[in-house]
Amino acid sequence: MPVHKENTSSQAYEQEHSSNKDELLLALVEQNPDAILLISPENIITYASTAIEQITGYSPDEIIGCDIFNHINPADRARVQQALAHSPEVPGKSMTVRYRWQHKDRSWRWLGTVYKNLQDDPRVGGVIGYVSDGGEHEQIQEERERLLQAEKRLELLNSVSTMLISSLDQQITLQEIAQMLVPTQADYCRIVLLDEQQQIKDIAVKHSDPTKSSLVLALYEQYKDRTRSTHGLQKLIETGRPELLSFVDEPVRESSRDNPQLSTIIHELELTSYMGVPLIARGKTIGAITFSSTQPQRHYTEDDLAFAQEVAGRIAQALDNARLFQAAQVELAERKQIEQNLRFLAEASKILASSLDYQTTLTNVTQLAVPHIADWCTVDMKKEHGIQQLALAHVDPQKVAWARELNRKNPPDPQDSYGLPNVLRTGISEFYPDIPDDLLVASARNDEELDLLRKLGLTSSMTVPLLVQGKAIGAITFIIAESGRHYSHTDLSMAEELASRAALAIENARLYSEAQDAIRLRDEFIATASHELRTPLTSLKMYTQVLLKQFVKQGDESLIRSLTKMNMQIGKLAALIEDLLNVSKLEHGKLAFHEEAFDLSETVKETVEQLQHGIRHTIHIEGEITEPVWGDKERIGQVLTNLLTNAVKYSPKADAVVVRIADEPGMAVVNVQDFGIGIALEHQQHIFDRFYRVNDPEEKTYPGLGIGLHIAHEIIARHNGTMSVVSAKGQGSTFCFTLPHAYKVQAP
Ligand code: ADP
Repeated sequence: MPVHKENTSSQAYEQEHSSNKDELLLALVEQNPDAILLISPENIITYASTAIEQITGYSPDEIIGCDIFNHINPADRARVQQALAHSPEVPGKSMTVRYRWQHKDRSWRWLGTVYKNLQDDPRVGGVIGYVSDGGEHEQIQEERERLLQAEKRLELLNSVSTMLISSLDQQITLQEIAQMLVPTQADYCRIVLLDEQQQIKDIAVKHSDPTKSSLVLALYEQYKDRTRSTHGLQKLIETGRPELLSFVDEPVRESSRDNPQLSTIIHELELTSYMGVPLIARGKTIGAITFSSTQPQRHYTEDDLAFAQEVAGRIAQALDNARLFQAAQVELAERKQIEQNLRFLAEASKILASSLDYQTTLTNVTQLAVPHIADWCTVDMKKEHGIQQLALAHVDPQKVAWARELNRKNPPDPQDSYGLPNVLRTGISEFYPDIPDDLLVASARNDEELDLLRKLGLTSSMTVPLLVQGKAIGAITFIIAESGRHYSHTDLSMAEELASRAALAIENARLYSEAQDAIRLRDEFIATASHELRTPLTSLKMYTQVLLKQFVKQGDESLIRSLTKMNMQIGKLAALIEDLLNVSKLEHGKLAFHEEAFDLSETVKETVEQLQHGIRHTIHIEGEITEPVWGDKERIGQVLTNLLTNAVKYSPKADAVVVRIADEPGMAVVNVQDFGIGIALEHQQHIFDRFYRVNDPEEKTYPGLGIGLHIAHEIIARHNGTMSVVSAKGQGSTFCFTLPHAYKVQAP
């Protein structure tokens, strides 16, 4: 600062004091709380007093030689420029400016400066700035604005959160959020998510000036290569780190120096500031949100970035929650479907096992499938000439009638290379998780049919073959229409499992009906044969007896013996034929019973006596029955004969059989015990079955038809008695039967 002294002193005084004066001036400048700057015409700071450090954080050494505009907020540059450039024409005129200076700690501070242009003063040759920490009014104003902005942002964050919580449609929510952020927080805002291939999916792009949208898109194109991007969205996603470009021009211009197209776009967009934040959920980048400003006075700061991060955090959290919720929903739905499938399979299997009439069971299965497994379900069987629809189900009976009619009018062509005919031909399932229109077009044989198929709104289908010995004999088709579901591979497995069970049931039914036919034929043969054999046998017996009488008269002992044996064998043959006849009669419920009260003790004794002749074993009777029983005496005698003959037949090494008889409350009990070969446990439950014989090799030597015990068991059952056996292999057997006492049956 030039100093003029009015009243000049002596030369000596001047010289003596000149060095002191310089020091004084320097001290005055240095001690001044306002800083003094000297700025060259090129805007370079050529001098700074020490007070500058107090105000800007930079020491004079750090700041001297710098371009002053490097430190001035771009929004204020024009004003400062004006003050600096002011009045070379009006030298000495000073001008006061308030502007923001970037402190060494990166914060913006308001400064008040009086600039005085002393370019023409050869002692100065530049502009002097008297810089004071101040701009108090602006500082307060800024503080107020900052508070207002903070309040507004808090409100915004609250709205964002409410929106995220209350909406189920992510896309719409994010669009609304972008809408809310423009223009108060950005001139354009972009929210993107990454798809499964980590590709960017634009969810929301909002621009305050729609005419700039094409430029925005062009800019994105420039930054498409993720690995080579120096700035912007791709870089953000690549690194997972937020980016803040307070002043887009400097760093971006730097990076786009070699790319004139990019420079032009940035220039035309008038991009002034940018910030971008990744959306991170569980440590993974799932998307990003970017804020861009085109306003000269809006330059994003660390504060703004913190806000953007808060918004991003909330969005990422909500998206993650939604994803988890959706995954849980899907899993729940899948589990429910699997449960439903298993229930259906179990129910269907029960139906299939419930009857051997497979036509009925398959019809029932289709009805069970609708509507839980399918909207439509059909069973079609391969016939010699074409395909026959066996069953068709839908919830609406009217639709069933209509579909039947359609199938009758347009039966499937067995030669078709897709659908049911194809499954029947190849034995391979056809599965359509989705039914595209192309498929309908290909399947329809005419326009009318295509129209119908479209109207049905089919969404998914599966046709599975009914395989018997590797060949498809039919197929089950499941179709989803109005319920809109789509079949999955789990559903297909279920359908194939059902088809294999159904095929088994069909095969069983066929085998069963074949076996039934064979049994019927056998029974008819037995009935006819035994009937036919009885007549000649009766006359044979009659003639033998006539002959025997004559030989007795003649006294020919040898012939008498032979004829007696012959007579006995004829008796056995007659008994066998009688048994066979009885079996047929039992089957048809034609065995007659003549029931009365009789003395069972007496019957036991008579039967034993008759049998005792001609056998080696001794039959012992133990005990007594005093109470009369109710029943057919002849038939009970037949039962006893049967048990005793078996006891003797199956105990070749023993010489005794014991019959124990007793009364118990309400019934008589008869036990026939032998000491023979016994019966293994696994056979005991079958020996009362018709034609059942133990087929162990050592038992092959015992003759028999396997019907005696069956008849005995049936006769006792008809008398409301019980028959059982206690035995073990090699330990002998005890057969036991009970008969009700007569008073029990006759009692009212
Ligand atoms: P079968 O004419 O074969 O004797 P049954 O119906 O009387 O026919 O008997 C059925 C099967 O039960 C016989 O084949 C035999 O294996 C077994 N069985 C019956 N009684 C006895 C017994 N007392 N001891 C051992 N096995 C017996």
